[in-house]
Amino acid sequence: MSGVILNPYWWDAAGPPVSTADQVLSTCDVAIVGAGYTGLSAARTLAEAGLSVQVFDKQRVGEGASSRNGGILSGNLRIGFGAAIRKYGLEQAVAIYREGIAARQFLAATIRDNAIDCDFQMNGRFTGALNLDDFGAMQREVDLLNTHLDLGAQAIAKPDLPDETGSTAYSGGLLRPDIGMFHPAKFLRGLATLATDAGATLHGETAVTGIARKGEGFAVATARGTVTVRHVVMATNGYTDASDRWLRRRLVPITSRMVVTEEISDNLMNHLLPRRRAMGENRNLYRYYRPSPDGKRIMLGSREPALSRDPRAAAEHVRAGLVDIFPELSDVAITHSWSGYVAFSREELPRIFERDGIHYACAYCGSGTVWAHWLGTKVALRILEKDGDSAFDGAPKMIPFFDGRPWFLPAAMAWYGLKDRQKVRRPR
Ligand SMILES: Cc1cc2nc3c(=O)[nH]c(=O)nc-3n(C[C@H](O)[C@H](O)[C@H](O)COP(=O)(O)OP(=O)(O)OC[C@H]3O[C@@H](n4cnc5c(N)ncnc54)[C@H](O)[C@@H]3O)c2cc1C
Repeated sequence: MSGVILNPYWWDAAGPPVSTADQVLSTCDVAIVGAGYTGLSAARTLAEAGLSVQVFDKQRVGEGASSRNGGILSGNLRIGFGAAIRKYGLEQAVAIYREGIAARQFLAATIRDNAIDCDFQMNGRFTGALNLDDFGAMQREVDLLNTHLDLGAQAIAKPDLPDETGSTAYSGGLLRPDIGMFHPAKFLRGLATLATDAGATLHGETAVTGIARKGEGFAVATARGTVTVRHVVMATNGYTDASDRWLRRRLVPITSRMVVTEEISDNLMNHLLPRRRAMGENRNLYRYYRPSPDGKRIMLGSREPALSRDPRAAAEHVRAGLVDIFPELSDVAITHSWSGYVAFSREELPRIFERDGIHYACAYCGSGTVWAHWLGTKVALRILEKDGDSAFDGAPKMIPFFDGRPWFLPAAMAWYGLKDRQKVRRPR
């Protein structure tokens, strides 16, 4: 691991845009905190409607999760559809899943209509079942998805697995044809260009340090001066800091790490990922993987090991997961590894809400490529008093004994890791 590059592979093609040299204006209609997909989607929509918008990011523009993710466009919810029906009732479960369908279609339309060059491919996602019981549950999920949502999902039985994967780790799988992939950092750049073309100003390396009520609006303190605005959008998700202590007590930041292999032969790729799809597993500690956009490398992401301090050791741990799936990769080198933060709410659902006049969209629970673009746009529509309805309306609940530092994660990850090992040991 000594030669591994500790920056996102994606930045080789599209690094986060450097900060603009623009002056911070002392007044504007809307200040947006965070320049990832959420903040930029909101900025674009508001600027296109004619409002003056400044976006502030304490890092470079989009340097948070939005230029680091795996680029799998699942619009996933942690809760499966069957479980959602049991928990919320059929009507509400259909509403939240239908919103996912609309959000995926909206993202595809944004890419297509604006000709965003981001290696977008719509070739489905396969999720492997770790044992026969889990495969049975997947078959029932497929029936529900197709009956109520007409998704064209398929259950893939063990004899048909070689068409989907070279891995022997699975007892079957679930195929969702409506899920695609993109190059996350290229999409980020495309979205930033749409926002600036519409008139929004992006200030990288400009932290927002505090927000106070001022008359009908707010005074937003930034590292480069105070701005008086009518509206504020908080779009900080997994990077929320002490400038918003209220939100910090409601979002658990979890570190997600990715590794990328060196280029492998076409023959090996044809064997391991014959359909070149996005891939996942039904673990509690989720693992997801995919081919690189050029189809030459495999990229895998999973939770960073708890208490990890050394990025190379963490990369080695994540690489071991890849070899666990594909032993054929045991001698293949890792070229890049990096991490970033995702945010979970206690209810494990995305959230959009207004509090004390400030608008929020967050808590995508590790699946924000689709949700952040969607709810960032919805937040803007709410400010414009247009159609901002969402099934995810509501503030995240407070997490008891939590101040933003997730002290309980090592124990939680140990518990989920144990449950995953039990899954693997069940009949396959
Ligand atoms: C390694 C990794 C892999 C992932 N893989 C996938 C995947 O395959 N599919 C998927 O759907 N999702 C994935 N995700 C999740 C997805 O990337 C995020 O949910 C999504 O990008 C969130 O977008 P956002 O704009 O809300 O937040 P971010 O892109 O994280 O942006 C938040 C920004 O807020 C800024 N900020 C915070 N505080 C302040 C402040 N006080 N002042 C100014 N700026 C501030 C930060 O600097 C940051 O840039 C992954 C995430 C990671 C980290």
